[in-house]
Amino acid sequence: MDHGTCNVIYLDRRADNEIVRRDNISRSLASRRASAVSDTPGYFHFAKSDGGEIHGNLETLLSIFQEIHVVNSGAACLSKISHLNESSIDHKPTVVLIDVPYDEEQRWKRLSREPRTPSPNATRHVAAVIEPEMPGDIYGMHLLLHVSSEIQQHSLSRLIVPVVVVSGQDERLASLPVLQSPSVLGSQAGMTDTMRLIRYLDAGAVDVYSSPLHKDHVHSLAVHAYRVHKEVAKEEPQFLVNRRSRKMSWVGVNEQKPYAYLREAMVSGLLQGICNPENVTDSINPNDVNVTPARQQIVAEAVGSWSFSAHDFNDDELLLGALAMLQHALTMPELQDWHMDSDELLIFLLASRTAYNEFVLYHNFRHVVDVLQALFTFLVQIGTLPPYPPGSTPQSGLPHSAIGNLLKPFDALTLLISAIGHDVGHPGVNNAFLVALNSPLAQLYNDRSVLESFHCAAYSQILRRYWPSVFADIGMRKLMINSILATDMGLHFKYMSDLGNLQDKLAHNNFTTDGWSVKVCEEYKDLACGLLIKCADISNVARRFHVAAQWAIILTDEFSHQGMMETELGIPTCLFGGPPERDNPIKMAQSQIGFMNIFARPLFEAVTESLGRSDRGAEREDG
Ligand SMILES: [Zn+2]
Repeated sequence: MDHGTCNVIYLDRRADNEIVRRDNISRSLASRRASAVSDTPGYFHFAKSDGGEIHGNLETLLSIFQEIHVVNSGAACLSKISHLNESSIDHKPTVVLIDVPYDEEQRWKRLSREPRTPSPNATRHVAAVIEPEMPGDIYGMHLLLHVSSEIQQHSLSRLIVPVVVVSGQDERLASLPVLQSPSVLGSQAGMTDTMRLIRYLDAGAVDVYSSPLHKDHVHSLAVHAYRVHKEVAKEEPQFLVNRRSRKMSWVGVNEQKPYAYLREAMVSGLLQGICNPENVTDSINPNDVNVTPARQQIVAEAVGSWSFSAHDFNDDELLLGALAMLQHALTMPELQDWHMDSDELLIFLLASRTAYNEFVLYHNFRHVVDVLQALFTFLVQIGTLPPYPPGSTPQSGLPHSAIGNLLKPFDALTLLISAIGHDVGHPGVNNAFLVALNSPLAQLYNDRSVLESFHCAAYSQILRRYWPSVFADIGMRKLMINSILATDMGLHFKYMSDLGNLQDKLAHNNFTTDGWSVKVCEEYKDLACGLLIKCADISNVARRFHVAAQWAIILTDEFSHQGMMETELGIPTCLFGGPPERDNPIKMAQSQIGFMNIFARPLFEAVTESLGRSDRGAEREDG
């Protein structure tokens, strides 16, 4: 460390804000002031304090340091500290020389006493003495106390070295024999008062000098700067741990720019949308959708088959595929109340698509259309939606199951709408990660189904704006919330257990719902909807092999991203089964098989049994 790699801030009320170097000191304001005679007495004006003293001190400092940041108020000093702190690299110390007027205390006492006991004469006297800018600023001893307490509380870096420079010491006192400070601080020439010295040291000063500065002072300053630099460098690991622990709670911390979205934007954006919807502006333009009639035809046909691959279509084509499915459902006379024409539906779908993050690899609009198409297929298969393409003969001539019979067109439409919004605004990390980081979103939802709650709330704002009849329908809203929250894989085994109970109940009732109350039927219908969207959400593993394999790779990439963020943040992994091994095909295959055996297959099989043999979720067409 040479003396150029040390910042020096020099605070003195009698100076001007400027940066002084050896090559410009002769042109500096301090130099001009030194040759002028000060005739404006101020609160901190002293008999001997002409500009020559500041100029002399700067020259002394520049005998060792290359650059001095001169400031003339506490506020300017603090802003300079934080500016240098932000832009500094590699443990660069910042020496802060704080001017403390010798009789500061008496002046403060007098100042605080006089206005409280005003007399006609005193008022005039005080008004003449106080400089107008004085009361708002923090200066001298007060500033020293503030800076050192900030350092103690880690709000300011330990690399800041506060040093007191006592000015305006009475010449008569200064000429008395000097009391030397303790040996460790062998540089306080001119300090005549041990009590005063101790007071400054106790307040956090690393050293105390009297003005005018001597060359010896400056040498000891360099020693202090070097010492703190060494100490901090030695404690580097601890230093990093402190920074990490700050990262653990993201509230109010703005140094993690890349994670700003996770940190607070999700919550602030959502709350603004809920509380001030009139201020939300977006630019949805249906003319942005650009698909040839031929491709439009291809995607409209593709959504009618389980061999559908969302990877084969671009975002605009996927949007038109979603439009075809919604329009098909809305042809049902029972759904007249929620009808929208194709332009309105297109705008709603565009607004929904905009709410998905393009930077997220898996949980984006493509996944959502894939889930929508899976649900659409299930609902057509169990006969809740009419055959698709319209007018075609039903593929399944099997009788409906009792639970399948509980589902009505209203439930089918709600499920399709839920699918479109079920991952809105997904940040590409899982709930456990958001909880581990104590993210604002996790705090908002008390660590429970954090993302699913967010998707639901954020999607509600889109519905409010672009499909008001859906938003206004309390029953639809209830079922949508129920269905979106069901996609939390953290609740998977609870759903499996509820499903087991349903199967038992059906078995005891001859596989019918005869004699069940309306309330019980409603409950099981809600459960069936939750189970269907769950099946659709993880149905990618049941697609044709090459389609499923592509989904697996994309999801693995998203998990790997989270793994990298965890490494960067120095936190244990929040991924089920640990971070994926992207380049190890055996491990990837094992993890896919594990997922299918533990989660997917038992769910698909039980749902098939309860909702009808025609449920395609459990069928493997991949061979
Ligand atoms: Zn999903």
